[in-house]
Amino acid sequence: MQFQIQVIVTQDDGTDLPPIEVVTLQRTALTPETVGLTLADGKLILSSIQATMTQAQVVVYTDAQQACSICHHARTRKGLHHLVYRTAFGTLSFPSPRFYSCPCTPQTSRSTSPLATLLGERTAPELSYLETKWASLVSYGVTVDLLAEVLPIHTHPATIQRQVHHVAERVEQAIAAAGPVSIEGCPAQWGRLPQPDEPLTVSIDGGYVHARTDTQRKAGCFEVIVAKSIPTDGPSRCMGFVHGYDQQPKRRLFELLTAQGLQMNQAITFLSDGGDTVRDLPLYLSPEANHLLDWFHVSMRLTVLVQGAKGLKREETRTSVLADLDRLKWFLWHGNLFRAFQVLEDLEAAVDEEQPTTEGKKITKWVHDFRRYIEINQPFIPNYGVRYHAGEPITSAPAESTVNQVVSKRMVKQQQMRWTMRGAHLLLQVRTQVLDDQWRRTFTQWYPGLQTAGGSVAAA
Ligand SMILES: [Zn+2]
Repeated sequence: MQFQIQVIVTQDDGTDLPPIEVVTLQRTALTPETVGLTLADGKLILSSIQATMTQAQVVVYTDAQQACSICHHARTRKGLHHLVYRTAFGTLSFPSPRFYSCPCTPQTSRSTSPLATLLGERTAPELSYLETKWASLVSYGVTVDLLAEVLPIHTHPATIQRQVHHVAERVEQAIAAAGPVSIEGCPAQWGRLPQPDEPLTVSIDGGYVHARTDTQRKAGCFEVIVAKSIPTDGPSRCMGFVHGYDQQPKRRLFELLTAQGLQMNQAITFLSDGGDTVRDLPLYLSPEANHLLDWFHVSMRLTVLVQGAKGLKREETRTSVLADLDRLKWFLWHGNLFRAFQVLEDLEAAVDEEQPTTEGKKITKWVHDFRRYIEINQPFIPNYGVRYHAGEPITSAPAESTVNQVVSKRMVKQQQMRWTMRGAHLLLQVRTQVLDDQWRRTFTQWYPGLQTAGGSVAAA
């Protein structure tokens, strides 16, 4: 059996152009593999129809552009270029004529290329959306393979990366244009605001990715900061940036909160891991903010200390240190810092005596570090016990850590992955929107035509 696929173009005046043969498919005996279309047939049909359709569209467009828009006289053609345009159904080459500007009206340039101006980005929005979405979830190389497997396109990891940077820069322009954050209004105005939503919880955390520079393949690490806002009801939202690269971290966090509908009279709790890069970020963003050290990070550090204490050789010291750590945890849980520091002093004295052994040296350092950590974060340590019993947030755990979800899964898990600060930062801007299910929405804001994409008429 033979199947012919033709395209019939019906012009705006209602007349049909002669049918254009697109693809002819042969089928012999019916087998499971030859029921209907194969993936290869599908790609061939899509790319052939795409080429046929776009050719007709471009001819009509450029013909219409030849006439001067003011006096309607035909403009003289100056030359013809070929314009390469990437779409989800193939890379196309269009004839793009250049016309002299019409002498009827003074013009800024002597000639114009209407098609080159219209298709200035050289990549169709829908392809750009697909490429950047997948590149935010899997590596650039896997994105290339994935798209080539299902669509008639062949691209290169470097092209995908360029596309990610291009669209992420567009996201960044909006942040830059918004400028620094300032809290609007005054307490009297906030008092008149409508009853706010339930409290908002925001966790802020940092993680590390392997660095490279343009000249150095291995260049240590740099820090990535992520935040996730968790409303009492509704979906959570996240954001991320590269510390030291981003110029507008406060604005970024503020945008995240306003996207969640934050009002100035709304209670908000910031939970952080106590690192100095994340501690100051949420300050002065909301008059109703509460800043806390995430209990998860306190208890993780205590767990490390307990593991270290179990390795101590002298049983007497081991028992007393473990008992002290137990008390320390209890005091910290109840926000009793006065007693917590007393216990820490006892602990320091006890482990100091173990100094000569390797285990002793290790735990002595850990205890000193922990004391420093608690000292620095004193203002952010509440009575966790009371909050917990009142049903107020004290930790963003046990939900998957935001660092793992936003950063590690894409940027750290494969050990050979190395990033420039700019590359990591830009990818994060796409990835957070994809994870929040906002990426398509961003594209439809940029390209409203995507929303009603097609305007197609189904065959009867
Ligand atoms: Zn004219």
